[in-house]
Amino acid sequence: MPRWYDALPVFAQNWVCDAYGLKMRRERFGAAFDERLAALRESERWSADRIAAHQDSAVRELIEHAYEHVPFYRERMQSVGVRPGDIRGVADLPLLPITTKADVRLNASRMRADNIHRRDLISMHTSGTTGTALHFDVDRKALPFRWAVWWRHRTRFGVTPGRWHANFTGHIVVPEGATQPPFWRRSRPMQQYLVGMQQVTPGKIASLVRDLDALGPTFWVGYPSIIHSYCGLAAEAGLTLEHPPAFVFTGAENILEMQRRDILAVTGATLSDQYGFTEGAGNASHCEHLAYHEDFEYGVLECVDAEILEGGDVQGRIIATGFASRGFPLIRYDIGDVGVWASQSFACPCGRASRVLRRIEGRVDDYVITPEGRRLMRFDYLFKDTLGVREAQVVQERLGEIVIHLVVDPQLAKREMETIRGLVREWISPKLSVRFAIVPELPRRPNGKIQAVVSLLPKDQRGELVGV
Ligand SMILES: [Zn+2]
Repeated sequence: MPRWYDALPVFAQNWVCDAYGLKMRRERFGAAFDERLAALRESERWSADRIAAHQDSAVRELIEHAYEHVPFYRERMQSVGVRPGDIRGVADLPLLPITTKADVRLNASRMRADNIHRRDLISMHTSGTTGTALHFDVDRKALPFRWAVWWRHRTRFGVTPGRWHANFTGHIVVPEGATQPPFWRRSRPMQQYLVGMQQVTPGKIASLVRDLDALGPTFWVGYPSIIHSYCGLAAEAGLTLEHPPAFVFTGAENILEMQRRDILAVTGATLSDQYGFTEGAGNASHCEHLAYHEDFEYGVLECVDAEILEGGDVQGRIIATGFASRGFPLIRYDIGDVGVWASQSFACPCGRASRVLRRIEGRVDDYVITPEGRRLMRFDYLFKDTLGVREAQVVQERLGEIVIHLVVDPQLAKREMETIRGLVREWISPKLSVRFAIVPELPRRPNGKIQAVVSLLPKDQRGELVGV
């Protein structure tokens, strides 16, 4: 939110949230969304053969389009001597090179399709798991598709669009320095009560829980780390929910077992998760039996560097090819996560024939404790405007301080550090001290990924929830 927002009274801030909500509703919902959701609710019951035929045909169409209209992919295919006709379906995708985040970073302008107007694209960014910014476009038309996929997940639990819910968000919806309740805002067009992560603190939790409980939304959505903080602080303060949500839908981060346990203990809700990412090249959503089913209409998730585990499950890197965004296609995109697929013979008790991921191994990270007692797992927003930062890792060795390890362009280092320090003060805590360590490279995990957050705090200072 812009700075002038902070100066507004609460009712006017709610109007601003309404205005944002209206824009979001226009982008995400409407006739295209309704049609797509209806179609998705039917196709999720297709047979395995029909699903395979559908994906093969979607892959062929996408590759033909990319060869014809996207310079980056045409050159890539020419460089390995592959013609569109060589790709007959999903099984032929390995003939094509993998597209990395570095490819997107360096070639974004050549990844746009030449037959789609710029005004039909929306610029987005994410930090992904390396902690640094990645800019890309998404087809405007792909947004209702994405939201229909996300809402299909909720309809599996009987939750349909148009119902009020709590949204635990990383966005600032209440000014950081607010001392007077309410510590939440409302978006009427989106039917959302907005709880920003900055407000989930020991000092504000009683007020938040009292208000949200009185409103009694039937479901919650949001980052698992924020919902977990909320539930953890509520339990520590001895607060109980009179009107707990019946459902909690999480996404955008890998949900940790410890988080699941604590959220269930406080809410007693049905907790279900979906695996998605801002780039929108694929998705998988829990069914009623909490298996992640590939949302096969939206994209295909390949398992690369497969390793067979005991019991027949298969672990490998998740490589995504998205069907929804023609304006900026992502073909064989390396999202940087590792997944575990159920064996071919697995038949989910829900009866759906789409492929099942048992779990996502990627994106498991540690957390930092702020002087206010908040537990933070995500810092990607600090780096979104620091183009000189190539990689970043946040390390906490003692309470009250973080050390940010940066791989950074030396000429830009000073400026970027000032930017980051300012954002920490504004977004996280004015009391948290920040040190920097400029390093030539960050240590990699065995799976090749960087751990974005590392806690070296002694166990007794980590604020683990006890007895929840
Ligand atoms: Zn299932």
